[in-house]
Amino acid sequence: MNILEQLKERSNSCCELCKNTKELQSYEVPPIETTSAENVILICASCSNEISLPSKNSHHWHCLNDSMWSTVPAVQITAWRILKELSNESWAQDLFDMLYLDEELLTWAQSAELLPNEVNDANTMPTKDSNGAILEAGDNVTIIKDLNVKGANFTAKRGTAVRNISLTSNPEQIEGRVNGTRIVLLTCFLKKLN
Ligand SMILES: [Zn+2]
Repeated sequence: MNILEQLKERSNSCCELCKNTKELQSYEVPPIETTSAENVILICASCSNEISLPSKNSHHWHCLNDSMWSTVPAVQITAWRILKELSNESWAQDLFDMLYLDEELLTWAQSAELLPNEVNDANTMPTKDSNGAILEAGDNVTIIKDLNVKGANFTAKRGTAVRNISLTSNPEQIEGRVNGTRIVLLTCFLKKLN
């Protein structure tokens, strides 16, 4: 079972922060050394968009009122970090005060920020497919969505296998040959083939 499947089973296929069931994706709770279901949570697209800057849309995070009581440590850690960012709002400060973490979890919670500096980290970030599987040069992937290839005037069809990919300096892009043409593909539209 891959991590995404494990997360879906754990969460009943709901966002582990706000219970939304749409556009679920994995979110790695930093710091990440090795990825396992223990340090990844399932979140929806809205949470994913807001999580880097919780104060921008603070009312979204009233959902933590429920999810901070999760039994999943990685969810507790994330709730703690978000509430800490919102501590100038009294409701969030109240929840933060109630959210007890034992010493080990508190150390984890304090060991990283919600969002590592993505700009600086871009070169060292691993390249990953839509499920979070790490992609390496020479891997084979399949395209999970019809993609219009700019400049090449064709559509890379969903289900097309791309063999022997190359990595690029951007962890969100790989290069591969589709219809005989070498193109750059966004990793979010790819799935690794085993
Ligand atoms: Zn959510």
